[in-house]
Amino acid sequence: MNKDQVFKLIEKEEARQKKMIGLIPSENHISPEVSSVLSSSLSSKYAEGYPRRRYYEGNQIIDEIELLAQERIKKLFNVPHANVQPYSGSPANSAVQFALLETGDTMMGLALSGGGHLTHGHPKVTFSGKYFNSVQYGLDKNDRIDFDQVHELASKHRPKLMIIGNTAYPFVMDFERFRKIADEVGAWVLADISHVTGLVVTGEHPSPVPHVDLIMSTTHKTFRGPRGAMILVTQRGLDRDPKLAEKIDQAVFPALQGGPHNATTAGIAVAAAEAMKPEFKKYGQQIRKNADTLAKALQDRGLKLVGNGTETHLMLIDLTNYSKGMGLQVAFAMDVAGMYANRNTIPHEPVSPFYPSGVRLGTPMVTTRGMKEAEMKQIADWIARVVEEVKDEVLPSDKTERRTFIKTFRAKALQNKNLLAIRREVETMASKYPLFTWGK
Ligand SMILES: *Cc1c(COP(=O)(O)O)cnc(C)c1O
Repeated sequence: MNKDQVFKLIEKEEARQKKMIGLIPSENHISPEVSSVLSSSLSSKYAEGYPRRRYYEGNQIIDEIELLAQERIKKLFNVPHANVQPYSGSPANSAVQFALLETGDTMMGLALSGGGHLTHGHPKVTFSGKYFNSVQYGLDKNDRIDFDQVHELASKHRPKLMIIGNTAYPFVMDFERFRKIADEVGAWVLADISHVTGLVVTGEHPSPVPHVDLIMSTTHKTFRGPRGAMILVTQRGLDRDPKLAEKIDQAVFPALQGGPHNATTAGIAVAAAEAMKPEFKKYGQQIRKNADTLAKALQDRGLKLVGNGTETHLMLIDLTNYSKGMGLQVAFAMDVAGMYANRNTIPHEPVSPFYPSGVRLGTPMVTTRGMKEAEMKQIADWIARVVEEVKDEVLPSDKTERRTFIKTFRAKALQNKNLLAIRREVETMASKYPLFTWGK
């Protein structure tokens, strides 16, 4: 039988991933076990509701799988309640907001420009910003969360829900300090640890469990499971409202979702078991070592990092010392040179999210592939060479000229001999590493 075109495209995508170096901090490579669960017969079953309370028959085994996922997650984080049904991080954050807030209630989150997530109340483009009164806090002059501002805004607006979480903030989150402020105004606290779950589990980032009421995490970033999410209710949260777990469950289903994705649920159970292994702890430690090494090597080569470094798996290159709005050019040129990352705004972004002035990098994927400090130094070298190659490609200040400029820039970059030479070096190195390894 002729293979469907889709399978050929999947083969191509796998080849692309193998010969390139992935530096996107929110991505990872899953184990063959998680992968096989995702393509199993579990996808064929409807299971609306929760274990032993389903609306469809035939869920005896699915119940066991979901209970297993819940038990493992509860054990891993030491929390009394886990909901593993959210389809992904964004709906999970919506569920928490739906469970705790009425339309028009006030919530507070880290602004996107400070490294927060859209779903933490971005005022213009999101559900959370539109249906709730959203107050956003930002960073201080050292690019750290501005706790004085958090305190001031919380006292003034008295939010019902305060969110602490990050997608492009390279530093450790101080949950305890955040909690103290929330307690002064009686706010619920949600920690969105989507990016750092794998670091929390391995002790490389402080745990929010003793300090917050609720935890949300995607399961596909440093946690290295399937695309999905989980909402955890802590003992602290339950002590405050014994109905909190029920409210969360109801917000996920039936308020916002229909049937759970059972293969994903099973994948979360498998990933949770993997996260309990000693090898996972080593992986967490290596992510941090790799991030520190990559950050220092980039700085040694003259690149500026937001906040001068990292305390997690991610870092942001600030390109404004070349020119403002260089993120797109550098990210595109890196891709031509075999390394994919994403352009990103920097704190107090001088241009725009579409033409930002930074590039975001992270070490989870390269760590999963088995790369270590020596490879990080090599990668920093290649990135510095890429920046050198495109640093004079200044974004026009005239907005109408920008699209043509980018089009011309892209066409030129695709033919750039120096970038293509780097790509060959990258491919030679990357091809030696499998996509997933348990490490040595
Ligand atoms: C990735 C992320 C989300 C959203 O997850 P999706 O699965 O993309 O919907 C939410 N919050 C944070 C902090 C994230 O990093």
